[in-house]
Amino acid sequence: MANSISLRADVIVVGSGPGGATLAREMARGGKKVLLLERGIDHRPRSYYGTYLGALIYSDRMSLLFTREGLNIVRPLMVGGATSMYCGCAAPPPGWFKDKYGIDISLEVSQTIEELAIAPLPAELRGEASTRIAQAGQALGYDWQPQLKFMRPGRGKQFDCGAKCMLGCRCGAKWSAAEYVDDAVRMGAELRTGTRVERVLYQDGHVIGVQGRLKDQYFLAQAETVVLAAGGIGTPRILQASGFRDAGVGMTMDVTVMVYGFVKERGIGNEPPMTWSWENPSDGYMLSTLIDPWLLYPIINALKGLKYAFYWPKWNNILGVMIKLKDDVSGGVFPNGTISKPLTKNDRPRLKAAEEVCHKILIEAGVDPSTIFMTPLRGTHPSGTVRIGRMLDQNLQTEVEGLYVCDASTFPEALDRPTVLTIIGLAKRLSKHLLHAS
Ligand SMILES: Cc1cc2nc3c(=O)[nH]c(=O)nc-3n(C[C@H](O)[C@H](O)[C@H](O)COP(=O)(O)OP(=O)(O)OC[C@H]3O[C@@H](n4cnc5c(N)ncnc54)[C@H](O)[C@@H]3O)c2cc1C
Repeated sequence: MANSISLRADVIVVGSGPGGATLAREMARGGKKVLLLERGIDHRPRSYYGTYLGALIYSDRMSLLFTREGLNIVRPLMVGGATSMYCGCAAPPPGWFKDKYGIDISLEVSQTIEELAIAPLPAELRGEASTRIAQAGQALGYDWQPQLKFMRPGRGKQFDCGAKCMLGCRCGAKWSAAEYVDDAVRMGAELRTGTRVERVLYQDGHVIGVQGRLKDQYFLAQAETVVLAAGGIGTPRILQASGFRDAGVGMTMDVTVMVYGFVKERGIGNEPPMTWSWENPSDGYMLSTLIDPWLLYPIINALKGLKYAFYWPKWNNILGVMIKLKDDVSGGVFPNGTISKPLTKNDRPRLKAAEEVCHKILIEAGVDPSTIFMTPLRGTHPSGTVRIGRMLDQNLQTEVEGLYVCDASTFPEALDRPTVLTIIGLAKRLSKHLLHAS
């Protein structure tokens, strides 16, 4: 066995996505000795950050992570978690979070909106193709609205957001959770990167710490409070290895597809993602404007069939509408390393109905109907694997005292909207609870 390292803190936070970063920052601000353990490293200073090469380097299995059913999952593993590759969209939590589960984070969310100046992009930066889609939707009676963004064009030297924005923000306009990590470190938190937590340790019903690997060494870290924020896949895996049999049983994904069609004009492909959206809560889906980055487009569409990959030269003539489905809890993250996310009988007809609406909108926007097609399924919101009400109480505590979960895995059902603002709200609420209790 390699040398073993011993660490100690008041609070251990595992994972530095929006859940872990926010919690580490708030607990450090509250005077706690915080140890933040992150499996990935900080790729932001590297020259490849925000490039296609970078996206391969920092996403799990070089972006080739698939469920048993063939759904592709994008899972960034680095400081800042998935916000290093997100679209920068923000949405307040759905009403059911409070009404059905008794969790009110409205104050934390409105404070975050103010603090990070969350707002839609100015009209002239929302993109010509995207605005055309939104106007077509509005003409058909669907209430498309400018999408709230964690983006401030004035923060960057030169706003340069296009489809490539999802590879990682190079112009600096987009906020990421890594900035909260920086704040936490400035306030005294200890950040250990390249540190993979394998198990939680507990004794007599109370948490005592975590153990895992720090580069090529084993480590043991002790604390009376441990918060798992390793994301919708990472957190259930740690819990499974720690003896929690229900972890990872069932998951949600906000299953996503793109519906594409082609127009004659060139030069409208490269626009910021998701600048306009329409929510359809009664049928359980959300539509938004988005086109895959140039180099990812043929790879993703080759999964559907070579014919679709060969449309690549027409990338700049695409109009794209993204569907996010409020999928049922199904499948799960399994101890043998596999993931399953089947669509249910309830999911399929709703996805079909959403696709039909996309067809109508694209045709209204001037697309040649014979060119319309839907991409294979994918998922960027693995969540709902350690659900509130099933494995967690309203304070996000597990059955083990002092062991909490604060990330997308807590969602009791599919959020069907951008997740990050809700996760930040949950983390701010949990940190108040922990600081108050100590
Ligand atoms: C391409 C893409 C676009 C998206 N667009 C949006 C958007 O516009 N708006 C929005 O709100 N959401 C968006 N999302 C989703 C959003 O980014 C995630 O839902 C959110 O980041 C989840 O936060 P989290 O705290 O649960 O975990 P994550 O952000 O997944 O962070 C978990 C962290 O834990 C680390 N970790 C995992 N296992 C371990 C371990 N064993 N030990 C130590 N560390 C570990 C990981 O490396 C990672 O850094 C997008 C996601 C993707 C991939």
